[in-house]
This record gives sequence, structure tokens and C-alpha cells, in this order.
Amino acid sequence: MKNIETDVLIAGGGYTGLWTAILHKQQASNKKVTIIEKGLCGSGASGASGGCLLTWSSKYPTLKKLFGEQ
Ligand SMILES: Cc1cc2nc3c(=O)[nH]c(=O)nc-3n(C[C@H](O)[C@H](O)[C@H](O)COP(=O)(O)OP(=O)(O)OC[C@H]3O[C@@H](n4cnc5c(N)ncnc54)[C@H](O)[C@@H]3O)c2cc1C
Repeated sequence: MKNIETDVLIAGGGYTGLWTAILHKQQASNKKVTIIEKGLCGSGASGASGGCLLTWSSKYPTLKKLFGEQ
């Protein structure tokens, strides 16, 4: 592997790693963010996810009360 200079190094290109990278870039777009992925980004659990909201759906009435419909 070649030497890399970076501000943030993230191991794993699943939802967790990719969202972490996006949030870092949103906070400081000049920050150099690097993801190291052993296979292909999204090839782990994130690529198999069914896209369901799971436990969030049962919290919907409370979330709506706190934050509104939108
Ligand atoms: C079949 C299935 C269905 C699902 N359905 C849902 C759903 O409907 N709703 C929901 O909310 N959740 C669902 N989930 C759970 C959800 O997909 C996971 O919680 C989520 O994707 C985890 O994301 P992650 O980034 O933490 O992990 P991962 O997606 O597993 O990403 C980790 C990444 O790290 C990489 N990695 C590992 N070790 C190294 C290393 N040493 N160096 C470099 N890279 C490495 C892996 O290759 C992988 O790409 C489902 C999971 C599965 C398996």
C-alpha cells in the first residue's frame, strides 16, 4: 500500500463509514477524508440491507410530536 496523507481515515465503506465521510466533508469540505475498504464499498451488510426503518417506525408518533410531520 502506498503512503497516504489524510485528515480523517475511515476503515470500512459501509453505511457507517460512508456517512461518516459525508458528514466530515459537509462540516469542512477542504478536509481530506480517506476510506479504506477491504472489498467493495457496500459489499458488507449495507449492500444486503432491506431498507426498512425497523424500530424507528414504532417511534413515529413520538418523533412527529417532537419534530413535526416533515
Ligand atoms: C440481510 C440484511 C438485511 C438488513 N436489512 C436492514 C433493514 O431493512 N433496515 C436496517 O436498518 N438495517 C438492516 N440491516 C442491517 C444494516 O444493513 C447494518 O446494520 C448496516 O449496513 C451496518 O453498516 P456498517 O457500515 O456498520 O457495516 P458494513 O456494511 O458491514 O460495512 C463494513 C465494511 O467494512 C469493511 N471492512 C471490514 N473489515 C475491514 C478491514 N479490516 N479493512 C477495511 N475494510 C474492512 C467491510 O468489507 C464492509 O464493507 C440488514 C442487514 C442484513 C445483513
